[in-house]
Amino acid sequence: MSDAPELPKEEEEEREEELTPEPEDQSDDSSGEEAAGNTEMDFLRNLFSSTLGLGSADKVLDELTLDGVAQYIKSGKCKNILCMVGAGISTSAGIPDFRSPETGLYANMQKYNLPYPEAIFQIDYFKKHPEPFFALAKELYPGQFKPTICHYFMKLLKDKGHLRRCYTQNIDTLERVAGLEGDDLIEAHGTFFTSHCVSFCCRQEYNLDWMRDKIFSEDIPRCDKCSSLVKPDIVFFGENGGSACMFEGNDFPRCDLLIIMGTSLQVQPFAGLVGRVSKGCPRLLINMEKAGQADPLFGLLGFGGGMDFDSEKAYRDVAHISTCDDGCLALAELLGWKVELEELVKQEHARIDGQEKEKEKVGESKGAAAEVSAAAPVAPEPKKEE
Ligand SMILES: [Zn+2]
Repeated sequence: MSDAPELPKEEEEEREEELTPEPEDQSDDSSGEEAAGNTEMDFLRNLFSSTLGLGSADKVLDELTLDGVAQYIKSGKCKNILCMVGAGISTSAGIPDFRSPETGLYANMQKYNLPYPEAIFQIDYFKKHPEPFFALAKELYPGQFKPTICHYFMKLLKDKGHLRRCYTQNIDTLERVAGLEGDDLIEAHGTFFTSHCVSFCCRQEYNLDWMRDKIFSEDIPRCDKCSSLVKPDIVFFGENGGSACMFEGNDFPRCDLLIIMGTSLQVQPFAGLVGRVSKGCPRLLINMEKAGQADPLFGLLGFGGGMDFDSEKAYRDVAHISTCDDGCLALAELLGWKVELEELVKQEHARIDGQEKEKEKVGESKGAAAEVSAAAPVAPEPKKEE
């Protein structure tokens, strides 16, 4: 059943001209008995939201649990899954969430003689004083870490034809190491994978090996063409990264299932993406705590952007409170993919260990890999939009 009240015909037509209509999928006529209490408030809310084209859609999940999500994925109706991931998916790889106070990244930076800790990730400061950033980059160099169960779960989603794209806030490149590549990925805060000359006239691109050599030889990376600085493509404070070109236009409206993992959804514009999927699109959060819940006021008005796990109106958002790895394993088990996932992790980790040993033999990193094993790559979070 649809909760949207019927509109007079004229109005209906007008509305269709002005607003993109929601897909009118009436597939689920049997459920919805719980909507019995049709209070005046409900009526007003529904009228308001349907007039604005913001009406809630029919329930897609049979139940708001991990099992409900698994049943939906197995139903074959779920071809376009988007994943949105943050630092929490990489913590089990040994990469700390630098925002968390315990990891104390900023507290650890007196040795770099910065005017204030965040300066190390500020583009203007970097252009004048690149040394602290590259010293930190050496210490925290990415690539010594192995992707997690969660990363490989996304690779499985891809291999099985369910993944449309992964939007990551992380710059540790572990999605790529796990086998997501090119079109599979939007790296919202940039990546260490490529680097560019900072000169606007030049913008020469450099690859990871080139940058790695510079970082480990403690040369300040300079462009071979024009001698300007070369910077990894992570987004610094004061740079216009990400936000403009951050999402692919059709991804969110066409999304069948949004899986949000390891992010507290506090940094814009990334966090706002959860509101871009259609009203009917189920959203699964796998995280150590609930996140992204609607502002009560906006929720009342039906601007369905925020997550709603618990209210009487909850119809599509599922929170699975656990580590990302545990959540992915649990979901994989419900999907019948658990053995395959564990096998994939085992094989890939063995392959990466093999590669590391090769590198050590070649001696190209002069033992650096071992030295930095306790460190971690981190990125500046772009500042919250005001
Ligand atoms: Zn250049």
